[in-house]
Amino acid sequence: MPIYEYQAKNPALGCDYCRNPFEVCQTVNEQPLTVCPKCEGPVIKLISTPGKPQKNILTSGNIADKGFVQYKKSGKGYYEKTAGKGPDTLHDSGHNHEHDHHHKH
Ligand SMILES: [Zn+2]
Repeated sequence: MPIYEYQAKNPALGCDYCRNPFEVCQTVNEQPLTVCPKCEGPVIKLISTPGKPQKNILTSGNIADKGFVQYKKSGKGYYEKTAGKGPDTLHDSGHNHEHDHHHKH
């Protein structure tokens, strides 16, 4: 059963029960509470699950921290780095095993 969180519209006027956020189990068919079950003062529904951490979301901001490199395709066989460590551009020459043409400086 989903849990909804409510709090007095004006916590200063709420009773002990609704002054602080309280959770109510309701079926999806039930009407949301509009008044406190204790003092019948007006209550509002709070946004559910506040501060729930979103895990494993890769963004350009944290992708480098996680050791990933992100490229975006900016042309035919050409990739531009947007995040992470690595060469700024990648060229997809179509040959993935060109080890023998590596020049040392
Ligand atoms: Zn109340």
